[in-house]
Amino acid sequence: MHDHDHPHDHDHQGSELSPIEARVRALESILVEKGYVDPAALDAIIDTYETKIGPRNGARVVARAWSDPAYAQRLRADATAAIAEFGFSGRQGEHMVAVFNDRDTHHMVVCTLCSCYPWPVLGLPPVWYKSAPYRSRVVIDPRSVLADFGVHVPAGKKIRVWDSTAEVRYLVIPERPAGTEGLGEEQLAVLVTRDSMIGTGLPLLPEGASR
Ligand code: FE
Repeated sequence: MHDHDHPHDHDHQGSELSPIEARVRALESILVEKGYVDPAALDAIIDTYETKIGPRNGARVVARAWSDPAYAQRLRADATAAIAEFGFSGRQGEHMVAVFNDRDTHHMVVCTLCSCYPWPVLGLPPVWYKSAPYRSRVVIDPRSVLADFGVHVPAGKKIRVWDSTAEVRYLVIPERPAGTEGLGEEQLAVLVTRDSMIGTGLPLLPEGASR
């Protein structure tokens, strides 16, 4: 189901560039043109923020929620404050809401109008998150989008899609995988993938386990 409770108030719309984006784009093309930067190196840096550094913050939040019921409760009650306990706060993460997967419901996050994304916990959004097909299809047919990501949600399980806005950003708290009872927070965090916190993936399984 599609959440329409929050007004979708954007400081940027569609494919129009914001003034900062336009300046960055202009700077990048000048630097590349003059040979100061290698576009491939830039891509590598962006990839690092997209997949390595950024989402590790969110993974620590999830691992703590899995390990510490009192923390999980604070995260449910006020995600912005609970996430700030780690020092993760700031632009594009001012109003966070954590949505918890359970045996009945699988949550997914989208921004139907552009690319609102919780930067402090996930870093930069992946390209597909900003793509028109993801943004439109996830609302209409989330189950088939999940299948494209290789995730098969049982027919009896509800899928809820949350539309991010300039005001509210969502973090999916995936279900803790079975077979992880003995693991500490750091080992648990390794299992938490970026996509599992957007809802387009599931956490990794501990070595030797199978789903
Ligand atoms: Fe947006």
